[in-house]
Formats: sequence, structure tokens, C-alpha cells
Amino acid sequence: MPRQNSSSKRFGARYGSKTRRNVDEAEKRDSVCGECRGELEREAAGIWKCTGCGKKTAGGAYRADTGAEEMLDKALQVGTEELEEAQEIVEGDE
Ligand SMILES: [Zn+2]
Repeated sequence: MPRQNSSSKRFGARYGSKTRRNVDEAEKRDSVCGECRGELEREAAGIWKCTGCGKKTAGGAYRADTGAEEMLDKALQVGTEELEEAQEIVEGDE
């Protein structure tokens, strides 16, 4: 599959432009080793190996960095409708 300039295009118009911009920025950023700043290679889902020092890092399944980007991934996996539904359940539980 050829790499698109904008990796968020696959999300179409379903998500707001701000969200899609965040995905672009998260996915275009190179994954680098925290030790030697070498390039990280994806060895397996969640396992990243540095091409410089060989250090293995546990990370996101498709990106080495975790945290905000991982949260964004999860948010994108769950549809907006599902989120609203979950919110209604939480709010109605008082
Ligand atoms: Zn390294």
C-alpha cells in the first residue's frame, strides 16, 4: 500500500480537522531511541528495537511512543457515537 502524504485521510470526514491533524503529527514523527537517539524498528506488536544500541522498548502496537498518542488511538478506535453512548450511561448512573 503506497504511503499517503496525510495518514489521517483514511479517517475521512468522520473526525474533526483538529483530531486528524493530531494523528498526522503523531504518525509522521520518527520514533527514536531514548538512549542513543537511534532509529527504532518495530520488531513485533508493542516491541520496538533500537537499530543503534539494540535496546528493546515496549510501546504502542504501531508506534514506539505511548501516552497521548496512545489515548488518541483509542479514541479513534471508539466511534463518536459509542463515546456519547458511554457518556450517557455514566451520567445517568447518579
Ligand atoms: Zn539506542
